[in-house]
Amino acid sequence: MKAAFFYKYGLENLQVREYPDPQITDSNDVIIKTKMIGVNPIDYFTVTGKHGLNTDQLLESKPIPHIPGVEIAGVVEKIGNKVNNVSVGDRVVVYNRYYDSSCVFCRSGQEMLCINGGLIGVVSNGGFAQYLKTRAENIFVIPKDISWNMAASLSVNALTSYHCLNKSNLKPNEFFLIFGATGGTGQFAIQLGKIRNANVMAISKKKWISDFQPDLIISNYSDIPLQVKEYTHNKMADVVLNSLGKDTWNDAISCLGTNGRLMTFGVLTGNKVELNLQTLYFKQLQIIGSTGGGIEEFKNIIDLSKELKVKVWKEFSLEQSVEALYGLFDKKRDGRIFIKID
Ligand SMILES: [Zn+2]
Repeated sequence: MKAAFFYKYGLENLQVREYPDPQITDSNDVIIKTKMIGVNPIDYFTVTGKHGLNTDQLLESKPIPHIPGVEIAGVVEKIGNKVNNVSVGDRVVVYNRYYDSSCVFCRSGQEMLCINGGLIGVVSNGGFAQYLKTRAENIFVIPKDISWNMAASLSVNALTSYHCLNKSNLKPNEFFLIFGATGGTGQFAIQLGKIRNANVMAISKKKWISDFQPDLIISNYSDIPLQVKEYTHNKMADVVLNSLGKDTWNDAISCLGTNGRLMTFGVLTGNKVELNLQTLYFKQLQIIGSTGGGIEEFKNIIDLSKELKVKVWKEFSLEQSVEALYGLFDKKRDGRIFIKID
């Protein structure tokens, strides 16, 4: 098969060439013919071997040579003889974390925290290839009428936002503020916030954000807390989602009202921040980390996907994998990046 893989870390070392086809070796194996791959910062970090921008923390990818790609949708090509949850020809999406179903976290519906887990595309080969082999427990059939772009946005972008909002306990009519609202996860946060009947305030300069119908669009970044104060009549936000990291941290904290919850799952602009502890306790703030989502949540977001949409910026070919990864940091980026595989 054709695949994008590397022997040595670094974007310049990612090559697209022939790679051995995966084979069914276990009765529980499933081989997928990949159709669409969502491109995420984690893929960039997998290839560079760094655990984020501005960090020395290393990310170890296995096996070497390694195929990246964590957000995968395709069609079932072959199955092992004990697989009974999917059939050849099914349109499917991959839940991208291995889990053992038995540890304390799996038993409480938090498979993404599995003690014996790991990310498909990081601890095993991922989706930047014509075929992917994984286990039946990680494969889920998708609704007939959703696009491949939507399918390839479910396991990282949509699920991360969905779990984050569950964890935030966002309630109807609460004020919900989203930094990076036109990013991969931000688009879903707007839509899921609306589905929860929250009052959604979305920060972005992109005109198309209005297609997602937030209640307030903040496109002027000069004094965001003041704009939130005016809109909420001094209450400020109940839930703030800041998945951008350091650069928007101070504004995110300033926009929180009493009993506010700051949600975070990303550090694209840096991971070291300052915090005034007095602000934290005087306003009874909570800072809540969130990561991925569990299997039940994944099933729920697959069901919900018929009501959701995703803004596509570009589809690259497998041969253009390096360009697709650089595209993540392109100032002209206007929506999600995908790799479309023939
Ligand atoms: Zn587990």
